[in-house]
Amino acid sequence: MGDHLRSGKQIDRTLRDLSLRKESPKSGYVLLVLLYAIAMAGTVFASRNGGRFIQLFENQIPFSAFAGVFSSLANICIICLVVLYRKTGFLTALFLLFTQFPMLVVNIFIRHNVNSFPGFFMNILTITAVVIIYMTHRNVLKYQTILREQAVKDRLTGLPNRFACTELMNDLVRRDEKFALVSVDLNDFKSINDTMGHDTGNEVLKAVAERWTALSDRMQDGINVFVARISADEYMLVISGYSLSEDVEDIVLMFKDELEKKLTIDGCDYFITACFGITEYPRDDNNIDSLFLFADAALHELKRLGGSNYIMRFRPDILNTEKFVETERKLRHALDNKKISFNLQPQFDNDHKLRGFEALARMRDSDGSYISPAEFIPVAEKSGLIDRVDMRVFELAVEFLSDVLRGKKDSGLIISCNVSVKHLMKNSFIDEVKGILIKYQVPASHIEIEITESIMIDSMDKAMERINEIKALGMKVAIDDFGTGYSSLSYLNSFPSDLLKIDKSFIDLMNTSESSKQYVAAIVTIGHVLNFSVISEGVEDEAQIETLREIGCDYIQGFIWGRPMSADDALELVFS
Ligand code: C2E
Ligand code: CA
Ligand code: CA
Repeated sequence: MGDHLRSGKQIDRTLRDLSLRKESPKSGYVLLVLLYAIAMAGTVFASRNGGRFIQLFENQIPFSAFAGVFSSLANICIICLVVLYRKTGFLTALFLLFTQFPMLVVNIFIRHNVNSFPGFFMNILTITAVVIIYMTHRNVLKYQTILREQAVKDRLTGLPNRFACTELMNDLVRRDEKFALVSVDLNDFKSINDTMGHDTGNEVLKAVAERWTALSDRMQDGINVFVARISADEYMLVISGYSLSEDVEDIVLMFKDELEKKLTIDGCDYFITACFGITEYPRDDNNIDSLFLFADAALHELKRLGGSNYIMRFRPDILNTEKFVETERKLRHALDNKKISFNLQPQFDNDHKLRGFEALARMRDSDGSYISPAEFIPVAEKSGLIDRVDMRVFELAVEFLSDVLRGKKDSGLIISCNVSVKHLMKNSFIDEVKGILIKYQVPASHIEIEITESIMIDSMDKAMERINEIKALGMKVAIDDFGTGYSSLSYLNSFPSDLLKIDKSFIDLMNTSESSKQYVAAIVTIGHVLNFSVISEGVEDEAQIETLREIGCDYIQGFIWGRPMSADDALELVFS
């Protein structure tokens, strides 16, 4: 397929290459004709010398016995010619068979040689068989060709489809030839379809295909542009044969300009535009699936930005944006459909007595799998959805508490809820919290708000105001991920917190060296001096529990004593 791409009309040729079965080699044709001639000569020789014998393994075999063998061989050659070389083979076979007729007729009717009778009938039967085989085979081939064409061609525009595009790229990759893949999407095509009808829409799609095919044929300087239609109003261009990467933009610009020329259908003028996402082999990747993904990512980024820029090259950071947008979409959907749920991870004192639970947000993907909070919480924070996540989890946690208190009025159980600093700073925060506590008739003293240590660095004064309000309501305050920020002792001293949560990273290291252990011990001591309780999170083994008991840490949270669990399992734990 490859070499055809160097000339004009390459799309047609590539399609033909892809859709037609490969021709059998010419040498095979010559060989078959030669073999046929030899077999025929053998047949004539064997029948003419029918009376003579040949000695084989002490047996006397008449030459005439070989006439049948040679004649069968000749017929096999004829059949192979018809099957392998289609029309040429068929005509050759007929020619070869008919040339024998005059000889046979002379032998029978003039020389009265009765030995030629079987040959005469055999000849007629072979011709009939050859015609039947050819006709049947021709029909099968016709349908095969139609099917193959349908597999590589887009019906509406006659352009190659995605499969053909992939085949072409595979070929370029095999030859290690650099190329650019451009994903194209027409702007506002849907509105043409909706307002002018599908027929007009189809005419537009066909016109675009024609313009671009014609332009690709006009390309010079060894540049080849392969135009394919992928779906509705999506096209792909595969550009090869250019010398510099920068040339790709210029070529794409030519396609853009060609597209934007006025298009008149049924007396109406249309001005079509499109977005073009570009990626390059091998510059961006050498995997074809990744290239499709990258070109589409650049295209989607253009659409998302929605500006007047219609051409963009792929950059790795676009993928992050893509993922971000996708996660945000899922998050919005989950929030709108009350699909944000929660887990409760138990917290214990160091004698393994239940203190309470930390409420952790959970979100499921459409396939039922969980999306990690590490992925969706940062997206929620950046997109301003975090308050809705926090409040949803808060409400679920309070509802859980009301269930507990209904069964155990004197329970001292505490539920910790994570609140993002951004959310905490909103003026509406206190009213929202109050509203939920009133709705479920739960006393505030059972609730603890977890705030990350970073709050002390970023916005201490305003935070202090808010934290005092929380305390005034009767709720507790915990400083989460303690040790990871840079809070100064003086801030910590004036911070009205109840609990310090030592970050998992310190607990992980604690038993690896004496200094790490002393570090954790120092945090516990400071916490106690400042009148806070201290909890360690991410505790995973017995040795860590031993050390934490030894240095006087008050509470323990971690997989060793309890993983995050459903509300039903948590209720069971409370009442067990
Ligand atoms: P975090 O507040 O530090 O929560 C503790 C995280 O550590 C949880 O991860 C928990 O499942 C995990 N963890 C607890 N014990 C162990 C252990 O022994 N080993 C290990 N390897 N991990 C342990 P998760 O649920 O994935 O939450 C991640 C983060 O997402 C949380 O970290 C918190 O910052 C945030 N988050 C979760 N829910 C909410 C929420 O409702 N609101 C806000 N603003 N943030 C939330
Ligand atoms: Ca937390
Ligand atoms: Ca934490």
